[in-house]
Amino acid sequence: MDEKIKLGISSCLLGEKVRYDGRHKLDPFLRNTLGIYVDWVPVCPEVESGLPVPRDAMHLVGDPDAPRLVTINTGIDHTNRMLRWAHEKLSDLGRIGLCGFVFKSRSPSSGMRGVKLYTPEGVLKGRSIGIFAGAFMQRYPLLPVEDEGRLQDPALRENFIERVFVFKRWQEHMREKGSLGDLVSFHTMNKLLILAHSPKHYTALGKLVAEAKRYRREALHEKYITTLMEGLRLIATAKKNTNVLQHMAGYLKKRLSSDEKQELQEVIENYHKGLVPLIVPLTLLQHHVRKYNVEYLKKQYYLNPHPIELMLRNHI
Ligand code: SF4
Repeated sequence: MDEKIKLGISSCLLGEKVRYDGRHKLDPFLRNTLGIYVDWVPVCPEVESGLPVPRDAMHLVGDPDAPRLVTINTGIDHTNRMLRWAHEKLSDLGRIGLCGFVFKSRSPSSGMRGVKLYTPEGVLKGRSIGIFAGAFMQRYPLLPVEDEGRLQDPALRENFIERVFVFKRWQEHMREKGSLGDLVSFHTMNKLLILAHSPKHYTALGKLVAEAKRYRREALHEKYITTLMEGLRLIATAKKNTNVLQHMAGYLKKRLSSDEKQELQEVIENYHKGLVPLIVPLTLLQHHVRKYNVEYLKKQYYLNPHPIELMLRNHI
């Protein structure tokens, strides 16, 4: 990649002492491990919109579709203050080429799902979305977002980081306006990755690229990236990955000896049964792809969607 990925993050997850109680919520994986590969762009909506540290704790109140941000003990409504600040902040963030955002879970400002919602009397009545996280997702619906709680799940973690890297590659690949040839080569390199998430989106994107000349360039790019990011949100299950692994094995079958074929089938089967993680069949496939120099497979991002040092496929 030409430059590091820029990812937004709730400041307290990087260890900044900006929480209502003057503490932080450092997430060591995000700061120390993923942080090697990304430039974090920290955002604390409460402090940046002018509230002090420490401050009164707040919660969400009222309508789940238009919740209010209210201090718990004193009932002060800070919604308008935060929305005014967010309007400017989101424009600033839009100019720096963010590839996603990691939100602090459960926060009435930064939580991206399932944030507790109360009646004005303080009775729990449901769940909603934090004020800033909601505004962010509304302004940038294509950007990958997750919260640090869900990122503890290996499948969700791999899915999020994969989407971030795909988005970055899309930005770089299409930077110089993106000709039809650029789109075709981008799509070709991502085919198996897309198939692992969603055969339905794989078919739709293939059709879109085949009929690309019917669209104006901006409309084509918009439709492509929207469909792609929607498809990649679906988890690549063991069943779908097995389908892709078999697909790759098919490309190799004329080159492999019968022993090699049998070994590959056993390893894929073991993955399908949950006996070994995805990295095992992929490593064997990588070996054959290199040894037999299979051009089409060598270029597939499915084999290397993100840095191997993150070990994301060792746990799924
Ligand atoms: S959760 Fe959001 S608003 Fe709260 S301290 Fe962290 S960054 Fe600031």
